[in-house]
Amino acid sequence: MTSRIDTISVQQADSLHYMHPFTDHADLACRGARVIVRGDDIYLWDSEGKRLLDGMSGLWCVNVGYGRKAIADAVHAQIMQLPFYNSFFETTNLPAVELAQKLVSLAPPQFKRVFYTGSGSEANDTIVRMVRYYWELLGAPERQVIISRQNAYHGSTMAGASLGGMSEMHAQGGLPIPGIVHIAQPNYIESEQDVSAEEFGINAAYCLERKILELGAGKVAAFIAEPVQGAGGVIIPSISYWQEISRICKKYGVLLVTDEVICGFGRLGTWFGCDYFGVEPDLMSFAKGVTSGYVPLGGVLVSSGVADVLALKGGHFNHGFTYSGHPVACAAALANLRIIEEEGLVARVRTDSGPYLARQFATLGNHPLVGYQDSCGFMAGLNLVKRKADRMRDCVRFEKEQEVGMLCRRYMFDNGMVMRAVGDRMIIAPPLTMTHAQIDEMIALIGDGLDRTLRELRHRGWV
Ligand SMILES: *Cc1c(COP(=O)(O)O)cnc(C)c1O
Repeated sequence: MTSRIDTISVQQADSLHYMHPFTDHADLACRGARVIVRGDDIYLWDSEGKRLLDGMSGLWCVNVGYGRKAIADAVHAQIMQLPFYNSFFETTNLPAVELAQKLVSLAPPQFKRVFYTGSGSEANDTIVRMVRYYWELLGAPERQVIISRQNAYHGSTMAGASLGGMSEMHAQGGLPIPGIVHIAQPNYIESEQDVSAEEFGINAAYCLERKILELGAGKVAAFIAEPVQGAGGVIIPSISYWQEISRICKKYGVLLVTDEVICGFGRLGTWFGCDYFGVEPDLMSFAKGVTSGYVPLGGVLVSSGVADVLALKGGHFNHGFTYSGHPVACAAALANLRIIEEEGLVARVRTDSGPYLARQFATLGNHPLVGYQDSCGFMAGLNLVKRKADRMRDCVRFEKEQEVGMLCRRYMFDNGMVMRAVGDRMIIAPPLTMTHAQIDEMIALIGDGLDRTLRELRHRGWV
């Protein structure tokens, strides 16, 4: 199909000229980047012809899988019709309007309007400006503080990384920006509390109430959180956590923002993560799965409560992007959402493939390296431990410097399986199109990758 690629020369050029995101370049230069040249369905191929099963949907985004002609056709047709026009100067375009209508119809009933951005980070930046402006318009300009969580991921722009709770990110470039504070994450498996997951969730939610009381409710604009933390390591909270969070936000009049960049568009077997946990946010950021990553697009869904204030009292909202409402990106999103609907992917994840994945993934819990495993829809994770015990907190961990997660990730790759490591937690978020047979294939690959890792760890005398 493709002419032979000289992998080494691509790697050399890559190493000389391409600055990768979130990468140690000295380290990468030694190893050489893996060159991905093709994708089809749930598989990728590298420049050496090796096939990989993509357990991460690219980067949590290729929800409908690779190689979808319907999206390619929609993008081609839109480029020929109108490749770009802006929405700044009292103009609009057809795909942007149609997509706004579509998104509002899929979102919970309180949502009425969409603000488009080019990415998830820009969506969260937009939310910071929007909620602060909203309170100003309501005559409460001192409501400026946004509460987020430690180990959250909300993107990599100045506001996105500030909202995020990644200390390594804050350490570079003078972050966080003022007016953003962080509370503890609801991470049950890392907790020392001797209580049920339900009780832990309620206790974790009280961190929000304590922070609001400490700051004074009159100072707090909004609380933002991912329904299930993604980049933080697929941290799945209890329903009780979200119920309590929602109650606290209502009690103190704090706007509730769910970052749906990963959980949106079927990942949890519901259209949005807030539907899964039964809460009603005031704003939602989205990106990734809205186009299945085929073309960049992000945005903010705005509830009528907030949108009406901005529309009626706001005058000029001095914010926007050249690519807000990009017609090609919106056409890609429409084609992608059509696939999700026509193939019934959301219901399939909820009632069929999600429960099947959960059952099969749970069998990995029997592996001698796996101390804990859990899943939610099409997200799952397992913790690598040195010695197992009934409860995660009683397991013996590896030393951090041993970087066993990274080692395991490399064995998975060599074994044809793309899995991500967050510390010693191995995570997946595969395309929503997976069949039972493909899930079986994935579980077998992971099991084999774990065996290989274990052999290496025994060889090194680490277990
Ligand atoms: C990826 C991600 C973002 C940032 O999106 P970009 O398109 O990379 O800017 C924000 N929030 C969450 C939860 C994400 O996973």
